Amino acid sequence: MTGRILIVDDVATNRIVMKVKLVDACYTVEQEDSGSAALRAAHEKRPDLIILDVLMPDMSGLEVCRRLKADPDTADIPVLLVTALRDRASKMAGLEAGADDFLTKPVDEVTLLARVRSLIRARDTVRELRERGEYGAGQGFAEAMAGFEAKSRPGRIWLVAPGHNGAVVWKTALDDKVGGEVRVVPRETALTELTVDDSESADVFVISADLTDRNDGLRLLSELRSRPATRHAATLMVLPEGDTERAAIALDLGASDILYAPVDTQELAIRIRAQLGRKRQADRLRASLRAGLELAVTDSLTGLHNRRYGLYRLEQMMARPGKGIVVMMLDLDHFKGINDRHGHAAGDEVLRRLSRRLRAELRSGDLVARLGGEEFLVALADADHAAAVECAERLRRSIADMPFAFGEGGASITVTMSVGVAFADPAVMETPEHVIARADSALYSSKSLGRDRVTVAEGASSAA
Ligand code: GH3
Ligand code: MG
Ligand code: MG
Repeated sequence: MTGRILIVDDVATNRIVMKVKLVDACYTVEQEDSGSAALRAAHEKRPDLIILDVLMPDMSGLEVCRRLKADPDTADIPVLLVTALRDRASKMAGLEAGADDFLTKPVDEVTLLARVRSLIRARDTVRELRERGEYGAGQGFAEAMAGFEAKSRPGRIWLVAPGHNGAVVWKTALDDKVGGEVRVVPRETALTELTVDDSESADVFVISADLTDRNDGLRLLSELRSRPATRHAATLMVLPEGDTERAAIALDLGASDILYAPVDTQELAIRIRAQLGRKRQADRLRASLRAGLELAVTDSLTGLHNRRYGLYRLEQMMARPGKGIVVMMLDLDHFKGINDRHGHAAGDEVLRRLSRRLRAELRSGDLVARLGGEEFLVALADADHAAAVECAERLRRSIADMPFAFGEGGASITVTMSVGVAFADPAVMETPEHVIARADSALYSSKSLGRDRVTVAEGASSAA
């Protein structure tokens, strides 16, 4: 794994010792010898991680950390604080200042490297989500985001510990301190309750490395990391005091953070809050990404798939083995006249409502896309010839038989459409373009035969 790490320490020997460990592990290392130089370098070089000495003459590492976290440009850079002191108060202050961890000199090399890997991995994830999201922002996703923000809820923290009592002690100490609901759950619940979707599952798991058997907490961690419903949850592993070896394993298995027994509940609360914040941020990024992708494939007037995505989906449907695909081209009759008589806004509303009717007549696996203007594409998977004709007729009637009414005393607009149907036989190799062309010429026949009707194209074999 590559990454650029900034080491900040006023003592040159300390920097060199740290640098040797990191360069051995193939990281690119830069150094600064004061807090103010560190702040400058963080801005200019945007390292992937900053390892920060606490005691420095010009500015304490805690202050540097606070300033980095308060600045949106540098807030995402993970920070490891390093100190010679075993001092609980400064450790808490460091974590409160937003540091990702607090290491005591001499720093254990195995844990250090595992920690570095884990922090850089987490940062890469956020960065990637952000970059992909910015691409989506071009499609105007702010709108879609507004809906998501409204759904935010209190965080869920689940504690999985050996013996119910230990976990209850944690819970009592944590309640009201972490800004979320804290639950004690047995190991089995952590796995079984979460099979469906992540809206039900915990945001943060706190898990003891050993539950009923040695390492079964670590195995639970791996399970959670591999399941869709819990993959994105933060996980905090609790290890026996001094068990740095398994701490490194836990981090490499994907634990978000680690903590040693006996658990200092104040420290646990701070770490949980930090993980909750990070999880929220990542959830938001993922949601905005989803919203951006959604917008990119959707026709904004009707909410149906747009042309590009509709054609892509048709190609996918035709590539799958099955009974055969039915492709229909639909075009509204004399729609220009409807606009002329009732106005363009009424025409838009007809397109919107008509799209809903089409969608309602079809199964969820069927495809409906607006190709443009008043022209639609429908594709049915696994349909045979008779069912296809029946479906096309049903679609035609769903529009023609019920005029679109505009309020009380408003206009009642009768709309009809012409349909061309082509059957893509799986036994005949045919491109999507070719099937569409056949459906299109059948549509043309419907138009010239008087409109408001369905015409079925000749078979692919005779046309090919
Ligand atoms: P035909 O029966 O031959 O299909 O006649 P038509 O008038 O439907 O066909 P034509 O292709 O000549 O015109 C399509 C019309 O559809 C032109 C335009 O006024 C209208 N139209 C296309 N897109 C939109 C839209 O987004 N909103 C509204 N209101 N009208 C649209
Ligand atoms: Mg038309
Ligand atoms: Mg047209």
